[in-house]
Amino acid sequence: MSVVPRAVIDHAALRHNLRRVRHYAPHSRVLAVIKANAYGHGMVEVAGSLGEADGFAVARLEEAVRLREAGVRKPILILGGVQTGAELALAHHQECDLVVHHLAQIELLERERLTGAVRVWLKVDTGMHRLGILPDEVPAALARLLDSGALAGPPRLMTHLGNADVLGDPLAERQCAALRRLAGPETGELSIGNSAGLIACPASRSDWVRPGIMLYGASPFSEGAAADQGLQPVMTLRARLIALRRCRRGDAVGYGGTYVCPEDMPVGVVGIGYGDGYPRHAPSGTPALVGGVRVPLIGRVSMDLITLDLRGLPGARLGDAVTLWGEGLPVEEVARAAGTIAYELLCRVSPRVAVEHLGWTGERARGNDGEAKGA
Ligand SMILES: *Cc1c(COP(=O)(O)O)cnc(C)c1O
Repeated sequence: MSVVPRAVIDHAALRHNLRRVRHYAPHSRVLAVIKANAYGHGMVEVAGSLGEADGFAVARLEEAVRLREAGVRKPILILGGVQTGAELALAHHQECDLVVHHLAQIELLERERLTGAVRVWLKVDTGMHRLGILPDEVPAALARLLDSGALAGPPRLMTHLGNADVLGDPLAERQCAALRRLAGPETGELSIGNSAGLIACPASRSDWVRPGIMLYGASPFSEGAAADQGLQPVMTLRARLIALRRCRRGDAVGYGGTYVCPEDMPVGVVGIGYGDGYPRHAPSGTPALVGGVRVPLIGRVSMDLITLDLRGLPGARLGDAVTLWGEGLPVEEVARAAGTIAYELLCRVSPRVAVEHLGWTGERARGNDGEAKGA
């Protein structure tokens, strides 16, 4: 029995969730967002299993290069674009699509003169005020892009929704309308919806959608569960009970003694902690699952260990598996208890957690003869 915590990645669930994207946005093409190591699930393995996607989106050039080196041939969009001539040359060499969100990136294309070479997605700030050029600046930006001679096809237009995770927030509709007003004879296809948008805001089901979190089976919304959208959890994070103790009434458990036992009680010690990516700020009461029973975390999270109140599970045995999130315990529920979001918990699972890929079909999807890893 290994005491190393384990993240089991369910590739059948991943493919199921892609079908849920198609269900919500049947007329859109899908750029599966696999930045940040596919939200902690393993970027290359995930890309291999999502052969049904129309393309991939990553945040940075380095991620795109890793995918190409692993044999991924589908379109790859670099969401942050490139900043230097050398990066532009590499992105071009790797046949990546580029987001242009800043006038400096247009200057770069004008300067480098890669004739008819790159597919550009012009990012418009329709109200989130993070990346993108303002709608008023779009006509001039389009003219410059077209004059640069660098483009492979008309520039596509994209925008990102700021509040789509809050159901009923009117900003998303306004952002969709603002982008659609800019479409014209010089522009190519449009891309708006992320997970929350494509589920809840029909106007964001544009030519291309960009789902991330829903592919991994977590809810994109600030309330409710992923099961409400028919999504299945992809990552299940497990560890083991490595000690069972009987604490006495009044015993203070763990660093700082923040939890004081209200009675004589069984306490379980689990071999996982913030050094594995379990959130240190998870308070007493955060749920974990032992033998299908929910039990509360007690005391502070340590680097390698957490402690559980086992009063609800008197039959717990040394070595029992503990689910921290995933199957039977939605990651968004743990995230809410810890004051964060599922995105952060998933992408912060640390490299010392063993990863097991279940039902990986990447070899077939990619036509490569690489070996499934980590089984
Ligand atoms: C990360 C990201 C997405 C995916 O968002 P989810 O909420 O995970 O669906 C889509 N578009 C852009 C520009 C992103 O940065």
